[in-house]
Amino acid sequence: MPKTMETPQLSSLYQQLILEHYRNPRNKAELDGKSVEIHMANPVCGDEIRLQLRIEGNEIAEAKFVGQGCSISQASVSMMTTLLQGRSLDEAGTLAERFTDMMHGDEDAAKDRTLGDLRALQGVSKFPVRIKCALLGFDALQEALKKEVSGETN
Ligand code: ZN
Repeated sequence: MPKTMETPQLSSLYQQLILEHYRNPRNKAELDGKSVEIHMANPVCGDEIRLQLRIEGNEIAEAKFVGQGCSISQASVSMMTTLLQGRSLDEAGTLAERFTDMMHGDEDAAKDRTLGDLRALQGVSKFPVRIKCALLGFDALQEALKKEVSGETN
């Protein structure tokens, strides 16, 4: 079989999970009453998302996104939003850190069950060009958290 630089060779189970989220994205809609929205793009691949969060007190009450792009970027943000509902801002920050560590090859992070379906993306860490795709949603999340923490006056 010819080797390609473009397509990560993931185990078929993980690949199925990624495609399943890509075809049936969770929480893909405009969010009414959003507290924060972050636009993030990965021009190298043509991925684009707008992450929208409704934050109540110190908690993410709702997380939705709209976007387009490759299966890895869209599956990653879909998986991420399912894990964000009801999390505190601190927990969301920790989740973003763990996932980022995993994408940079951290084996311990890859075993972290709190990452849920996101662990399917671990294999992508071997493909530097695609890491940005997987991290797109989390880069948006980290921006949103930064904005929320610094902008909070009440
Ligand atoms: Zn991509």
